[in-house]
Amino acid sequence: MDAGSGIGMLENNNEEQLIQLQRIGKHYRLADTALPVLQDVNLLIERGDSCALIGRSGSGKSTLLNVLGLLDRPDTGSYHLNGIDVAQASADDLAALRNRLIGFVFQSFNLLPRLSALDNVALPLTYRGIAPKLAREQAHAMLEQVGLAERSKHRPASLSGGQRQRVAIARALIGDPALILADEPTGNLDAATAQDIMKLLIELNLRQGVTLVVVTHDPGIASRLGRQIEVRQGRLHESSGQ
Ligand code: ADP
Ligand code: MG
Repeated sequence: MDAGSGIGMLENNNEEQLIQLQRIGKHYRLADTALPVLQDVNLLIERGDSCALIGRSGSGKSTLLNVLGLLDRPDTGSYHLNGIDVAQASADDLAALRNRLIGFVFQSFNLLPRLSALDNVALPLTYRGIAPKLAREQAHAMLEQVGLAERSKHRPASLSGGQRQRVAIARALIGDPALILADEPTGNLDAATAQDIMKLLIELNLRQGVTLVVVTHDPGIASRLGRQIEVRQGRLHESSGQ
């Protein structure tokens, strides 16, 4: 992660397009048959966009999100993230891009049960070699931002679902990402808590310009975001208008 590893190339990119997918294809192999999941997918996402990815279960939403998040590679087509051709980037560069640019939020929160809320949030910084005291100070500021500062010492088991998701969002935000990718972030929450969590994500988008891509099958949630993009039989269909 030093200057020699090519990370300089990954930073300070002023491209308006944060995400550019061109003719992306992906299939999974089951026994000896190839199951197509994404076919000829084209997608442009500008900085500051907020997008809902909708579609039936099994339509490929998580696969697409994982491609966007550099957790999975497409078989064909090209992906430029922040102006960088992902296919040309080394594994180290991909990891650096992911760390610098992307925060993930999952349906199941994915917190470490033995760590306090504060330490869960601080973990990405600790991984990067930031001194524990500084990491904890920044983590505390993030917990404040999501309204959970007074729960910082609690472990996940003693937090409600909505509070756990706030911790996960604080953790996603800690590296000041340009992009938040959330896979059904409200899927385990009751309706009122789901609204609170969406409000938080939308505020981050509006106030801080964080680009937001949220997988949801709740039409009410999808309609609160700027763009609605449906994955259907491996292809994207974006509804125009409001
Ligand atoms: P969604 O998130 O829209 O429910 P997914 O992207 O998880 O859909 O899955 C799309 C399709 O790909 C589904 O048919 C699913 O069963 C299949 N699939 C997902 N992951 C794998 C995998 N690792 N191996 C094989 N098939 C997979
Ligand atoms: Mg899914």
